[in-house]
Amino acid sequence: EDAEAMDSSINKAAKRPTRINNSNAKRLAKLSKPELPLILCGMIALIFSSFSSLAIPAFFGQIVQVLSASRDINTLNNSTLALVIIFLIGSLSTSIRAYLFTLAGQRFVARMRKELFAAIIKQDVAFFDQSRTGELVNRLASDTQVLQNTVTVNISMAVRYTIQIIGAIILLFITNWRLTLVMLAIIPILAVSAVFYGKKVKMLGKQVQEELAKSSTTGEEVISNIRTVKAFAKEEKFVAIYGKDVHQSYLIGKKLALAGGIFSGGVFLVAQLAIVLIVYVGAKQVLNGDTTTGNLTSFLLYTLSVAMALAFVSSLFGDFMQAVGASDRIFELMDKVPSIPITGGDILPNPVGEIELKDVNFTYPTRGTQVLTTINLKIQTGTVTALVGPSGGGKSTIVSLIERFYDPNSGVITLDGVDIKRLDPRWYRSIIGFVSQEPLLFAGTIKENISFGVENASMDDIRAAAEKANAHQFIGAFESTYDTVVGERGVRLSGGQKQRIAIARALLLNPKVLLLDEATSALDAESEYLVKEAIDRLMHNRTVLVIAHRLSTVVNANSVMVVNQEEIWESLNTCRVLVFACHLEDVQLPVEVSPVNLCMIR
Ligand code: ADP
Repeated sequence: EDAEAMDSSINKAAKRPTRINNSNAKRLAKLSKPELPLILCGMIALIFSSFSSLAIPAFFGQIVQVLSASRDINTLNNSTLALVIIFLIGSLSTSIRAYLFTLAGQRFVARMRKELFAAIIKQDVAFFDQSRTGELVNRLASDTQVLQNTVTVNISMAVRYTIQIIGAIILLFITNWRLTLVMLAIIPILAVSAVFYGKKVKMLGKQVQEELAKSSTTGEEVISNIRTVKAFAKEEKFVAIYGKDVHQSYLIGKKLALAGGIFSGGVFLVAQLAIVLIVYVGAKQVLNGDTTTGNLTSFLLYTLSVAMALAFVSSLFGDFMQAVGASDRIFELMDKVPSIPITGGDILPNPVGEIELKDVNFTYPTRGTQVLTTINLKIQTGTVTALVGPSGGGKSTIVSLIERFYDPNSGVITLDGVDIKRLDPRWYRSIIGFVSQEPLLFAGTIKENISFGVENASMDDIRAAAEKANAHQFIGAFESTYDTVVGERGVRLSGGQKQRIAIARALLLNPKVLLLDEATSALDAESEYLVKEAIDRLMHNRTVLVIAHRLSTVVNANSVMVVNQEEIWESLNTCRVLVFACHLEDVQLPVEVSPVNLCMIR
């Protein structure tokens, strides 16, 4: 099944059209504006280094000329000194250029990563239902990395070698125009093969990137679910799946290697033959007295520098194409406007906390079937409403809709009579507390975890919340009390302890409306009691919607709603629930009401 899911995502990735357009390049240039001072200084250094390398062949030519003809020691001394100075300037400016461009690249990519992360985290929950974690992480890490090299180092190299090619060709003409014409005759052959090669590399490079993204997605998922993998002894299966993904990228890498090999060999051959040709024609010119040995030496060195620069530029071409592909994926994410914003909208000055669902219909964007049909539900201020019903009936979906993780397809949800779509989501969520079945704690201290929803909470408030949540005692038993680090690589808390921290978190937030998903997992009797007592304190004086799994919760609720997939929506009064509960008492709840039971009660 997993392999199938993966295959289908592979197909999707392969089918995604590759739009490569100029506007991305423009946008990248625009985004790198803050790095402009660095890039400009880098360019100046680059011009120095390019010109110094252009000057070298001329002086070498002079030295050879001294040897072969003039025998003038002064010229030899001067040329040697000039070469030393040129090398010094060249090395220094190369250092500066490399430093400035790399620095600009690092800054650029750091900024892109921050912006991209902000764009990702602003997306609505439906987006995360559709995206795979590994793929998103991969975009943050590897696509931005590809951009870093291109936007800075590669651009600087491209500029450098373009200067070198143009400059060297001009100097070639000045040095020996007839020989230059002979040399230029081979350029078209090189250019055509470079274009073919560049296209091939672009395509293969993109494929490699996609295959890599896939394998890292698999790796991520498996490692983060390692316990399940181990529990079902599926290590080898996933080694095989991961191996398959990696093998795919290896296969493409093999093609890339072959293309690279043929291209470099071919270019090498053409270049060598061209040099032999030039040496032959040039030597004949020297023999005829049309040119000097020194002149021919300079010419050959310029030719070599053109050839080298051409080889570099053509290899950069492939990288550029890869980067434009990566920026495509990045911009697609950055431009995605979430259908549910994170801020903006009205704020109610004194909310009472009455929640109502009117004719709500809902289908998950990722799934075709309707989960909720014409739901009507009113949660009166200060009352407790229990949701019961079979697993998969839609209880959590109702909670998600009230949290506004999703918007209903039709119908409205209101707070104090105002459509929640009109309210500022940040404000709205701040008056809604949510305690889930299995609360997740962030890697950080207990203090940070309790004050998660409230900025600048005082230590006194945090402690008071922990006391009410029956958490203060066990926290006090840790060596560093509230500064104890929990979560990954921190102290491992028991299920009941985590729940009490989550309850303390909700108590500190002090929400008007409380959404509660009771834990189904069994706690030991003492924990159970402590958690229950904490929850009772938390529910006190609030509008509460609880997904109930315990008989006591159902019995004590002001109203009980039965949620079922087959559109059965009932509001039972407590009296009927008691009857119903008596009926089920000896089977030991969690209360999972099935339609059959319901009919039976009637
Ligand atoms: P309950 O909380 O009563 O167990 P849920 O609200 O979790 O029920 O689920 C109701 C239905 O919606 C189920 O069929 C479930 O598979 C589906 N569902 C729940 N969450 C999602 C989601 N994020 N994406 C798609 N379908 C979902």
